Parts: sequence; C-alpha cells; structure tokens
Amino acid sequence: MLQRSMEVDAGQARAAGMVHIVGAGPGPADLLTLRALDRIQHAQVVIHDRLIGSDVLALLPPEAERFCVGKARGDHSVQQSDIHQMLVEHARRGRRVVRLKGGDPFIFGRGGEEVQALQAANLNFEIVPGISASNGCAASAGIPLTHRDLAHSCTFLSGHLAAGDLETSPHFDWTALARANQTRVFYMGVAHLGSIARMLISHGLPADTPAAVVQDGTRPAQQVWAMGLSDLVEHAPAYGPRPGLLIVGETVALSPHFRATHSPPCHVDPDVNLFTAAERNIFYRVLAARRDMRHFTRGSQVDEHVLQRVLQAAHRAPSVGLMQPWRFIRVVDPGLRQKIAALVESERIATATALGNRSEEFMRLKIEGVRECAELLVVLRSPDDATIFGRRTMPQEMALCSVGCAVENLWLAARAENLGLGWVSMFDPAALGKLLELPEGAVPLGVLCMGPVDRFYPTPMLEAENWRQGQPLSGMIYTDKWGRATLPV
Ligand code: SAH
Repeated sequence: MLQRSMEVDAGQARAAGMVHIVGAGPGPADLLTLRALDRIQHAQVVIHDRLIGSDVLALLPPEAERFCVGKARGDHSVQQSDIHQMLVEHARRGRRVVRLKGGDPFIFGRGGEEVQALQAANLNFEIVPGISASNGCAASAGIPLTHRDLAHSCTFLSGHLAAGDLETSPHFDWTALARANQTRVFYMGVAHLGSIARMLISHGLPADTPAAVVQDGTRPAQQVWAMGLSDLVEHAPAYGPRPGLLIVGETVALSPHFRATHSPPCHVDPDVNLFTAAERNIFYRVLAARRDMRHFTRGSQVDEHVLQRVLQAAHRAPSVGLMQPWRFIRVVDPGLRQKIAALVESERIATATALGNRSEEFMRLKIEGVRECAELLVVLRSPDDATIFGRRTMPQEMALCSVGCAVENLWLAARAENLGLGWVSMFDPAALGKLLELPEGAVPLGVLCMGPVDRFYPTPMLEAENWRQGQPLSGMIYTDKWGRATLPV
C-alpha cells in the first residue's frame, strides 16, 4: 500500500478519499516543500497539530474543514486513536484529507501509527516529508549536525521518553550517548534538561561539552542559548509552552551564539536604577506568570547557584524599619520532610472534615508538593530579638509584613528562574515548631515547596479547580473612605 501510494503520479496523488500525511516543517510557511504546499492548497479536510504556524494555516482553502488535534504537553484531550478514527471517517466519505503535522511526520510525529491505521482500513495515503525541527533549528542556529572532525553521527532522541525513569529506562544507552564525537538532538527535551545533563555527565560526558537550546527555531521569535552543558542547565529556560530543541555536542561551539564561559546574567548593578521599557515589561511578565504551585517535577533538583540567587532575592526584601524577622529552614533530611508532609496531611483531613459538604471537593485539591518538590523551605518569624525595639504600634503585624515581603521576593525570583513555588500553611504550628526545635517565640508561617514544574498553571489553580474566583481589582480599591469605589482600575 505504501509503495503503491508513493508511485502515483502528480494527478492521481490528489485523489478523493485519500489521506495526505504532510510535514509542515518547523514553522514558517517558506520552509514548506512545494509538494506540501500543493496538498495544503487542495485540502478539503485538514486535521492539524497545535504547533503548525499561523502563516501555514493561512494557506488552507477557506472552505476546508479544519480540526486542531494538537496536544500541548500534559494535555491529552484528543487521543491518538480518535485521530485515527477521524482520518478514516473523512477519507471514507471521499474527502481529500490532509493530516498536517509539525516538522516531519516520521520523526517523533506518530506518523507511523497513522499509516498503520490507514493500512488497516485499506485506505490510500501519501507521506509528504517536512523539514524536521532538528534540521530547521540546526540551520538557523548555525549548528552543524555532523562534521568530519567533530561529529560522526547524530542521534535523535525523545526527551519525553528519557524523562520516564532516567536511571533505568531501557530506551537510552547513556554510556554510548556520553561518548565523544557525536551530536545528540533531544526533541521534547527542554523541560528535562537538568535530568538529561545529569545522566550524560554521570556517564562520562565532560560538563563543559557545548550544548544549545533552540527555542522557536526558524521562527521570528527564535532564541538560542548555547554554552557548556552544565551552564546551560542553569541558564536555559526550564519550561515554556514554546517549542524548544536541545542539541548536545562539539559542533554547537561553531554556532555564532556559542559562549564558552557564561557570566551570570543576574548581576545587579546598584548604580543602574532606571529600567528600560523592555526590562519593565519582563518584570510585569514575571509578576503575571507567578502561580501558587502544587505540582512539581518528581526527582528534579534546584541548582545550588540558583538557590543562592533566590535566597539573596529574599534577603533584599523591603522590611519595616529594617527589621529582618524572617528565617528560612531548608529541609534536607528526607525523614524530616516525611514528617512535615504527614503533619500537613493530618491538618488537611481535619480541615476537610470541618468543611462539611465541600469536604470531598477540598480533598481533591492536591498537596503532594511537600513530598515532590525539589526544595522544601519552612519560613518563620523569629522571636523578637529587639529588632522591633522602640516601635509602639503594631510590632507583631509589622514583623509579619516583613516576613511576607521576604517570601514575595523569593517567590518572584523563583518564577524568574522558572521554578515553581507553593505556600502551604495547613499544619499545626506548635507541632511543626517541635519538629524543627524552634526556640520560644519563633512562629512557623509557611512550608514553601519550590522546584522545577512540568507546567505552570495558566490560571490560578484554585480558580481552575472552581474552588474560588479571585475578586476584581476594581472592587478592592477605595477612595478616601472604606467602600467608596471610584477609581477606574
Ligand atoms: N515531527 C516533529 C517533531 C514533533 S515532537 C519534527 O519533525 O520536527 C515536538 C517537538 O519538536 C517539540 O517539543 C520540540 O522539541 C521540537 N520542535 C518542533 N518545532 C520546533 C521549533 N520550531 N523549534 C524548536 N523545537 C521545535
């Protein structure tokens, strides 16, 4: 069947009741093949992935029926079997069906499975190759995939698979992958960059091996991070909805984007106190993207340098009257972590019981973060060590506000580092105080879960779970007197 469909001439190639599995390339329309363009322009039904660029979709005939079946990471709303069924049903109705896939259909595109389904249904089909992300990204970032001196082979891997169970997965021969003179290209690997790097380095790959993350490769928004592998772990974006490819190998050093040593970009010069509009926009982006996270990437870690940076951010927090009543206890003992998790769990059950009719709904809100996150920090208000000396009004409240500022700084810095942070406050403070051997007067205020996440929630989790909707700002700002809302915000 495959043979037959590939031998048809151009006229027959667009027969009715046929499925064209078309590679759309890595994004821009001018990276389509002429054959792909032809099939797209004559499509009656188009079933396309999420990553297809809007300028490619603009080429579809307006009357073509379109279905977006693309999966975002972690979203399995359209099952592969449903896609097979759609292909078969539309082709059986005699339509010219184009199955439009990002890159090349036969490279991590599940094109093979779709071919099997069409063969089983005895339908005609054709495969139109596309420029895969690896070709596109390599070309536009200036990274040769092979090279006579530097890379004698090139391996395409799925970072997604690698993430399964890194140490034991039979899918990867890490010892072979760690050998010199080859290029490794990880599709869907950027979110697992830390784990992939750890496996390669622990199997003998030098930590300064050139490596790159190419995000939105070949597109106008393309960004490239190219440096030694261990630096890359620290500086590349850990997670994002935008597609990114990880390339590891000596040839990355040939890229004009490559920097052999990486100076930390977060050095803050205290003399520079005016921000550009671009800097301001980034700052607001971080604020808007901050979430209270409850789901973390299991088995992940936070780089020591990154941890230091976010703690320093907390240290820069504004505080009332320069009092610094906050302390953080970093929990590293796994046994202690288990005990804290158990404290939180028992308080959660007690709260659920007290909630009555919403108790089941409440129990469904996940709090596994305490067990799963890479770093656990307990935030405390220290005993009054006379730093609030002389203050007559609201000393305790001001101490709490200062702790809140420190947590807020930590939280925003963590988000800027692409780390999630969740504030857990359901525990018996006295019991936690005992576990941590707190002195008299110290008060635990939160268990902060911090670490890499698979995805940041697009909206606050409690809103998404229909637990509670946030109030609009306009109802929260008054003018002159309580309740007098006049400001148009
Ligand atoms: N069949 C596709 C790959 C599908 S898997 C192909 O041949 O390219 C999806 C993954 O491809 C993404 O997670 C990302 O790793 C990679 N990818 C796709 N388009 C990309 C782009 N423009 N830039 C960087 N990576 C891309």
